[in-house]
Amino acid sequence: MKISVFGLGYVGCVSAACLAGLGHEVVGVDVNQVKVDLVNDGKAPVVEERIGELIAEVVGNGALRATGDVREAVLGSEVSLVCVGTPSEPNGSLCTTYLERVAEQIGAVLAERGGRHTVVFRSTMLPGTCLNLLVPILEKHVGGTAGVDFGVAVNPEFLREGTSVRDFFDPPKTVIGEFDPASGDVVAALYEGLPGEVFRVPVPTAEAIKYADNAFHGLKIGFANELGAVCQALGVDSHQVMDVFLADRKLNISPAYLRPGFAFGGSCLPKDLRSLVHAAQRADVSVPILSHVLPSNSAHLQRAVELVERTGRRRVGLFGLSFKPGTDDLRESPLVELAERLFGKGYDLKIYDANVSLSRLLGANREYIETRLPHLAQLLADSVGEVLEHAEVCLVGTKEPAVLAALPHGGDGPVLIDLVRLPDAEARRAEPGYVGLAW
Ligand code: NAD
Repeated sequence: MKISVFGLGYVGCVSAACLAGLGHEVVGVDVNQVKVDLVNDGKAPVVEERIGELIAEVVGNGALRATGDVREAVLGSEVSLVCVGTPSEPNGSLCTTYLERVAEQIGAVLAERGGRHTVVFRSTMLPGTCLNLLVPILEKHVGGTAGVDFGVAVNPEFLREGTSVRDFFDPPKTVIGEFDPASGDVVAALYEGLPGEVFRVPVPTAEAIKYADNAFHGLKIGFANELGAVCQALGVDSHQVMDVFLADRKLNISPAYLRPGFAFGGSCLPKDLRSLVHAAQRADVSVPILSHVLPSNSAHLQRAVELVERTGRRRVGLFGLSFKPGTDDLRESPLVELAERLFGKGYDLKIYDANVSLSRLLGANREYIETRLPHLAQLLADSVGEVLEHAEVCLVGTKEPAVLAALPHGGDGPVLIDLVRLPDAEARRAEPGYVGLAW
């Protein structure tokens, strides 16, 4: 199939490259010229496992290219896959501005295009957004009727940053919210040959399924971390508790997200929880569990700040800054929040994150760092050694091999505050100058 992918961010560039890898002819569209140029040069605009090789391959064999020209992309394709961002508004509600803009742009081109084209929304959006907001925009600009003159579907994305290429080819499920059966058939054809169950459901159901997933992931992480904090206070190893708890398959508990560790973050879980709670409040529905997941996460983050305070030391090192390993994505990273809380308290901080440094060098996240985090940009070190030399106390927020290999043992060096339960945590536990968070 000939596919346009709108937005070459974390979701769009992975979807575009993987669809091209499946044999489709794909053109990626983005308003950000840096991302368009990177893709056309065969380079990935994000740091992700396997994405660099895949983009080089599919750009090299002509299956993928990028453009800033919406008209050319839509006229030359049968499907538009919309992967633009839906961040939080300051009051917690969902920002639909980018979706609206793309719907207007695609609609205007469809008004002059013959033949049926299907618009598939892959961005996360609250139930009702597609039918009540985006379909009317499309119909107005096309001058036609959805389901008749053009197709519409919602196809939420379940990839996890860090393993997104693997997740694309081995998805936990494929959810197709179909406006009409013909639109659903088009989405099903996009992913033909991939494993996993396919669920064809009404459009608002598809939108809601994504929120069920993300709210539950946040709840699981909060639950595991609170349990970890209590176990630690009572002298119990919470990972041993979870090993046994999770072995009880009769209750069918998936171990994912249930290991005490550091706080969660990223561009999805916090903002999706916020917009869900905001929507519930607007509808006058009381959601005490959901509204306390983010405060629980914030309290967990504060425990790490308190561990630093308790050491009485001022020169602090931080390993890891992106919101989780294997990505350069800094949006709502709990490690950024931790760095900011420490920076705000006047600690003398140095930070090292290999993926963030690489991405900054390539230019992909340079603008984000320089405009959103200029106060942290100046604290970024070039090597693990530079941080170890500087620090009297070191927060370890990543399991990157280069960091693990360099960490000192036996109290020889800075105090280590382990946020991620290092692979050799058991042995380190007995060492002086080693502190674990919540386990
Ligand atoms: P992102 O911010 O990384 O990428 C969005 C891209 O859209 C940017 O490159 C931006 O320049 C581009 N864009 C904005 N307006 C445009 C326009 N008019 N035309 C073309 N391009 C435009 O966002 P993301 O992390 O890829 O997330 C996209 C959506 O997918 C969000 O709704 C998010 O909630 C959802 N989602 C994200 C993940 C994840 O792990 N990041 C997982 C599942 C779902």
